Amino acid sequence: MSENVLEVRRLKKHFALSGGRGTVYAVDGVDLTIGQGEVVGLVGESGSGKSTVGKCIVRLLEPTEGTVRLRGRDITNVPRRKLRIVRREMQMVFQDPYSTLNPRMAIGDIVAEPLRMHKLARGRDLDRKVDDLLDKVGLARDMRYRFPHELSGGQRQRVGLARSLSVEPSLLVADEPVSALDVSVQASVLNLLMDLQRDMGFSCLFIAHDLATVQFLCNRVAVMYLGRIVEEARKEEMFRVPKHPYTGSLLSAVVLPDPKLQRTRERIVLRGDIPSPINPPSGCTFHTRCPVAELPLCSDKVPALVDVTGESHLASCHLIKPDGNPPDMSLATVTTSS
Ligand code: SF4
Repeated sequence: MSENVLEVRRLKKHFALSGGRGTVYAVDGVDLTIGQGEVVGLVGESGSGKSTVGKCIVRLLEPTEGTVRLRGRDITNVPRRKLRIVRREMQMVFQDPYSTLNPRMAIGDIVAEPLRMHKLARGRDLDRKVDDLLDKVGLARDMRYRFPHELSGGQRQRVGLARSLSVEPSLLVADEPVSALDVSVQASVLNLLMDLQRDMGFSCLFIAHDLATVQFLCNRVAVMYLGRIVEEARKEEMFRVPKHPYTGSLLSAVVLPDPKLQRTRERIVLRGDIPSPINPPSGCTFHTRCPVAELPLCSDKVPALVDVTGESHLASCHLIKPDGNPPDMSLATVTTSS
């Protein structure tokens, strides 16, 4: 059994609103494990807390509660001055690469900066490493003399990847790395990320707002709703039989590669938007939108996230059958968008 690269336990991130106007429960008790070389997708709508989880892991945000372990070491309370050493082990790629690239620096310097900062190369060796990294991400070597504003969105994201991977991290947290790109460019950047992960063997937390993006890239998928994980399983299991009604609704929007399986799927459109994390609904927080909710059970009692198959398929729903089958969603396929 390989060592886990990342272990997150009972992670919470709450933001107090100014003037005592309340608290935003952005992340409210998340457990997550990523093994060596594993790619885990973290999926949820805007406002589900998935990006906040990513930022807490790399310590761009301080967790309110819980622990984050990287290769067995508790990094939750590592002082800021020592974070640089930890950050060599874990890097983040952001949704908008332009905002993270210094507009006054040439691409070559942007890619070289982490290598210099961590004293991993200098002189000719540094130049050679930058050339190698540009090759790896599919950019011409003479791009090193260009500036971020001269590049397309896809090229900037390739620079972001080259920079993050220059220090050969154990863990890459990729926060919606393709959602700001044109659809035509998304596939090429996803393919690149997949090739790099296979060649370099880093572990990856891939954050996305839909299941379509994660279906080719990830080994395992966790679905978040209002600050909590509501379902987690190996990708094949999750796509074959989603157990939680929320996952079922997300998956119903994905065109599956298997036409037979696709024909068995009906589209489920949820009513309304995700509720405010300032005042989350009682009981199962999904009950206000769940097409099969049973009241008062679902509004009174919080369902536990438990293994419903005995094969590490976790889900939190009161109506999952004792044999592990999901609630009957056949009455939920009426498309009633808000
Ligand atoms: Fe829907 Fe109830 Fe299951 Fe929550 S516990 S997902 S409201 S059926």
